[in-house]
Amino acid sequence: MGTHAALAQAAGRADLHVHSSWSDGAQEPETIVRAAAGRVDVVAITDHDEIQGALRARAFARAHPELRVEVVVGAEISTLNGHLLGLYLEAPVEPGRPAAETIARVHGQGGLAVAAHPFHPYRGGARGHRTLASLLPDLPVDAIEVVNNAGVWSWLYNAWAATRNVEWLFPVTAGSDAHDVWYLGSAVTRFPGRDAQALRRALLAGRTRAQVDWRWSADKLPRHLHLQLKSLVRFLALGHRRRRLAWPEPAVPSLTRRVT
Ligand SMILES: [Zn+2]
Ligand SMILES: [Zn+2]
Repeated sequence: MGTHAALAQAAGRADLHVHSSWSDGAQEPETIVRAAAGRVDVVAITDHDEIQGALRARAFARAHPELRVEVVVGAEISTLNGHLLGLYLEAPVEPGRPAAETIARVHGQGGLAVAAHPFHPYRGGARGHRTLASLLPDLPVDAIEVVNNAGVWSWLYNAWAATRNVEWLFPVTAGSDAHDVWYLGSAVTRFPGRDAQALRRALLAGRTRAQVDWRWSADKLPRHLHLQLKSLVRFLALGHRRRRLAWPEPAVPSLTRRVT
């Protein structure tokens, strides 16, 4: 099949950036899978440095084939240089490492690495480290998220990502960055095929397209602001929880071992 024919059949719809209650999202993984039915064919659950919710979502989707939703197990990994989406993961990836090393770890377990919202004002990097965007031309990412629908002004940093990608020509993804199912499917990665494996092949072949499926209007604003406020509270609570618990497990030496 020629490229034109393949793109003409880019019927599949995937939201590749969604948060569940396992990080700072509002809903349980099962609720997200149900909400995805009819909106997208594939949804990637990408909690902050966490894959438990995604694993639960995948198990639920597999147990409910009538919903016709496939789940990609992912994570939004906090690298020293900013947020990186790991897709097709089977194990969690340690946060707080340089982006290049994190990408190698994602690839090491057969996953794909995507630069998340590389030009967002808040990119999630650590102070004193270069941004993912500035490192991008030299990083072996599989794709960049050129469409992220996290807020009313997303089109500004999306436009900048697309402009820079004119030069880099990385494969593209779109994701709602939904922290509430209301936004799920508001940004979709289109691909030839309908399932998670077809999507993976399309990403590797650079045959995806990114699309916004959402219009900001005045009547959406009250609900948007209300949900954003709730999501900010959850985000701050998550940071507090993470500071108390070292990742992945608190390093508490076994008392019994110590005395013997
Ligand atoms: Zn992020
Ligand atoms: Zn996110």
